[in-house]
Amino acid sequence: MTPRRTRPKRRRKPANAERAISPDPTIAAPLGWHVRAVQPVNAVKMYRCPGCNQEIRPGTGHVVAWREDDEEGRRHWHTPCWRRFAKSA
Ligand SMILES: [Zn+2]
Repeated sequence: MTPRRTRPKRRRKPANAERAISPDPTIAAPLGWHVRAVQPVNAVKMYRCPGCNQEIRPGTGHVVAWREDDEEGRRHWHTPCWRRFAKSA
């Protein structure tokens, strides 16, 4: 007889727990691009990341980037998605 081990698998993580990620002033921008970090507190809208096509939820630190000649076309990116893009650009 083996007693069933029922371990609750749920890990309790508050959805909007503040992660101790320090702001990163050194987010790389490929030549011809401008990029700025958006702090979680300033992320008040939902955006769609062009890197992964997923939503960037309000309260998520991310970056906003645009081409030098296209400031109107600024896009919001997840920081890791931007990093990937910036590396390959
Ligand atoms: Zn993304």
